[in-house]
Amino acid sequence: MDRMRELVDILNRWGYEYYVLDAPTVSDREYDRLYDELKELERESGVVLPDSPTRRVGGDPVKGFERHTHIARLYSLDKAVSEDELNAFFTRVKKAGDATFTVEYKYDGLTVCLTYEGGKFVRATTRGNGTEGEDVTAQALTLPSFPLAISYMGTLEVRGEAIIRLSVLEEYNARHPDEQLKNARNAAAGAIRNLDPKVTKTRRPEIYFYDINYMSEGGVSSQEEARKFLEKEGFETYPFFRVCATPEEVFSAIEEIEVERRRIDVLTDGAVIKVNEEGIRSDMGATDKFPRWAIAYKFEAEEAETTVEKVLWQVGRTGKLTPLAMVTPVELAGATVRRATLNNYGDLTRKDVKVHSRVLIRRSNEVIPEILGAVSHVEGSVPVEKPVRCPYCGSAVEEVGANLFCTNEHCPPRIVQRLTHYCSKNAADVEGMSEATLSVLYERCGVKRFSDLYALTEESFFEDGKRWEGFGSKKVSNLLEAIERSKHIPLDRFLFALGIEGIGRVAARELASFGSVERIASLTYEELIAIEDVGEVTAKSILAYFADEENAAELRRLEEAGVEPYGREQPRSGAFAGENVVLTGTLSAMSRPEAQKRIEALGGVCQSAVSAKTTLVIAGEKAGSKLDKAKKLGIRIIGEEEFLAML
Ligand SMILES: [Zn+2]
Repeated sequence: MDRMRELVDILNRWGYEYYVLDAPTVSDREYDRLYDELKELERESGVVLPDSPTRRVGGDPVKGFERHTHIARLYSLDKAVSEDELNAFFTRVKKAGDATFTVEYKYDGLTVCLTYEGGKFVRATTRGNGTEGEDVTAQALTLPSFPLAISYMGTLEVRGEAIIRLSVLEEYNARHPDEQLKNARNAAAGAIRNLDPKVTKTRRPEIYFYDINYMSEGGVSSQEEARKFLEKEGFETYPFFRVCATPEEVFSAIEEIEVERRRIDVLTDGAVIKVNEEGIRSDMGATDKFPRWAIAYKFEAEEAETTVEKVLWQVGRTGKLTPLAMVTPVELAGATVRRATLNNYGDLTRKDVKVHSRVLIRRSNEVIPEILGAVSHVEGSVPVEKPVRCPYCGSAVEEVGANLFCTNEHCPPRIVQRLTHYCSKNAADVEGMSEATLSVLYERCGVKRFSDLYALTEESFFEDGKRWEGFGSKKVSNLLEAIERSKHIPLDRFLFALGIEGIGRVAARELASFGSVERIASLTYEELIAIEDVGEVTAKSILAYFADEENAAELRRLEEAGVEPYGREQPRSGAFAGENVVLTGTLSAMSRPEAQKRIEALGGVCQSAVSAKTTLVIAGEKAGSKLDKAKKLGIRIIGEEEFLAML
């Protein structure tokens, strides 16, 4: 028995060094020799220790997968595909507290959950629908990337992603010409969800662990601690893990992943950003689908390498100078790319982009691809000069953080960019009104303000009795019709079109729930800050926008021109006005959806989880953890009787 214990310990340590640390300390032969000795002992004694490596064979095929309910729900993640959406996430987090963030790879495989009891591995399940998954214990047992015994003695659920390395997939396909696995994601899912554990084993999946899903005793106070716990207990984790103090650091960690991910042996499609602190996480809670404290940032797949030929500067609507690189033409996603952008001057230096450098570019949702970073330099690579004057109007350039700004409000490209933004698809959507057309309109007939667009007529496009070149009657009538149509657009798009600093599409939608421009213009700082996606800076910028006389005059001109954005105000008066309400437990008088409807009709906002913004909790029968949390946060709690009285 002592010898058996000794053999199991030695073999498990070697296995861990080999599979998890990727640093074997003995030869395969030595390993096999002790393994055979252990098997022999087990055969003779009829005893197999619970953490014996011989258990990792997986057993016989199963008839079907048994369903298993997870101890704690396995949420999926909300997704962001743009910086705008990520910034909205940061704004929401900021309101919950001073959080730090962790950035990890987003693996592209199959999510699995492993359960341990009393220090022993007992079960592996797929995520399934988050509440209930399939029991894949026999399949998981064929994998070496997790321990069968751990030092933690309580009940534990850990979460990881089953993946198949790209090199393993390639090798498998080379050996199985008749049974090609199409891609790593499907191969991983197919290997784990295979009724025959022997098939699982031949496909050699691994699991990368990244989170604790449940712990019966004790706990961790941050993502950092969770990761340390996983590593200490012998789970395989992926090397990339960053703790970031600010959104800027998160963005640069994401960029690091974007460049590095093409060199690694695992399929990834993005980064996962989580609030590090457990306390802030529990304050933020979850929607019915996602935790509010984490988000997955998905990458676009299209990238290419090219050479920077020269760098020009563009001036945007805020006056920001954006570097625009002219690159050696390269094919990217079916188009020839000649230009690529960088965010700002700081970006250019940080990414080490020089003239004549080789760079990696990516096509995003924008029209012009972005430079992700320099791949290599040549002898003749020269740093890009920092402009001291605006290349368009010659005004002084001001440096704010990583950005350079033209200080002239009336700098021509700024005006054209403001108009272009106003006419863009997600704004007023003036079809056919391109930047080039607006440039011509600005130069030839002084179109500067949004309201000037509505004064355009057929005659505006004539000079000396002749039509402008390139502006045939068909084109002009299309443009005029598009301008006419833009008079009636949803309020959120109109708000976005105005180009108020800090108002992206998400914040514009939230503001639009106030129903009209007049109402929004009258909001106080406190009312603005109470909106989910509006932070302090944005609130101040909205106040400044509406306090400005020129802006007020422009809004009046737009109104006089017949621009009437439509919105529907959500009721904000009534017994629940200004209240953020959470329902918990069962009500006897009505169903929960019915109660929510009535609260909303009386001006309340219903939330699914208790957070720092919750102002009222209605506790029915058998109220659970939400009630405890509300008590802890000192939130006003009422029972059903009082609720009915308020109705
Ligand atoms: Zn300028």
